[in-house]
Amino acid sequence: MIADKYLIREQNEALVLKTIINYQPISRANIANHSGLNKASVSSITSALIERQLIFESSIGDAGTSGGRKPINLSFNPQAGLALSVDIGSNYVHGMLSYLNGHSIHQVKEKAPISTENVISATLNVINKLTTLSLPKTTHGIVGICLGIHGIVLDDQIQFTPSYDLDKINLKEELEKFISYPIYLENEANLAALGEYTFSKNSQDNMISISIHSGIGAGIIQKGELQTGSHGQAGEIGHSILYPNGHRCPCGNRGCLEKYASNKAIYELFTAETDIQNVDSDLITDELNNDNPVVRSIVHKKIWELSIGVNDLTMLYDPNLIIINSSIFQKNPELIAVLKAEVPSRFAQHLTISNSELGEMATLYGGAAKVISTFLGIENARLGILD
Ligand SMILES: [Zn+2]
Repeated sequence: MIADKYLIREQNEALVLKTIINYQPISRANIANHSGLNKASVSSITSALIERQLIFESSIGDAGTSGGRKPINLSFNPQAGLALSVDIGSNYVHGMLSYLNGHSIHQVKEKAPISTENVISATLNVINKLTTLSLPKTTHGIVGICLGIHGIVLDDQIQFTPSYDLDKINLKEELEKFISYPIYLENEANLAALGEYTFSKNSQDNMISISIHSGIGAGIIQKGELQTGSHGQAGEIGHSILYPNGHRCPCGNRGCLEKYASNKAIYELFTAETDIQNVDSDLITDELNNDNPVVRSIVHKKIWELSIGVNDLTMLYDPNLIIINSSIFQKNPELIAVLKAEVPSRFAQHLTISNSELGEMATLYGGAAKVISTFLGIENARLGILD
């Protein structure tokens, strides 16, 4: 009985907090209107939230047409705590410390090949740098950390990581020996989608973010909620089969999309055709600008292959928006129109395809969104557009 009462209180508290975040600055009377809670409940819940410094009285509102006493407006206090997010790539660890609205305070990026041997020390090194550089004083301190993993993650446990061997270590358990706040793990493409949904200007309730790096992964948001599937594998579009009997993939299939249409596949094909080594997105961009016919033809062929994945995702999930997160597309925004032209299906006529607004920061912002929404107990919150 007591537990139930506690739960209802928690749910109502989360509802009030979410209403304030969505409509701030907002009066207590308007919180009651939006949330459906009665004024007495709103009054006691907002008092508790003020005491915990999660909200504050921010301004005097409008008395409206009836006149009378002007109401006091309430706003969310993003500086009540701090969130940590870390993107663990195959050759880097990139971390961000932010306030509870995702506003970045510090970022640290360290480059080194990552494996089970050094992942703990490399991650702790980035966390230490983020938290010793003049850590702001806040009421709740660090409220959690989210690690973005380039592979399959289920319930904070790494299942399969083809680009490094982190599936051989219990990262959460090992880090818990050093860290006292909650630790969450999630797939990097899923976090990128969560980051775009939570913070980007053209966010939609039904959207997909496709992360294209050395592999290809998609994060799927439906009705404002990240879809991870039964085994954490939802959106693993990089392992959909493009060419049966094609190149072998570490996943066990042949002819997976990411063996052809990832940025790594573009770099490898360019090296094979020109003998130029160490190709990256800057070199591809320079050669596109020089109108190099070899690179132009490679990039267009790879975009055509990618478009088959985009078409499949559109048929499966019917999103309003597909966001492309790739350094090649970021540096050559005109390629978005090329990709769009390759998806002529009438089923795609309502689909918008656009470049990521958050770029390589999307995973870190998604990690912040995960930490913050879990701490606040609110789901699907749009925490605010980043500048
Ligand atoms: Zn595969």
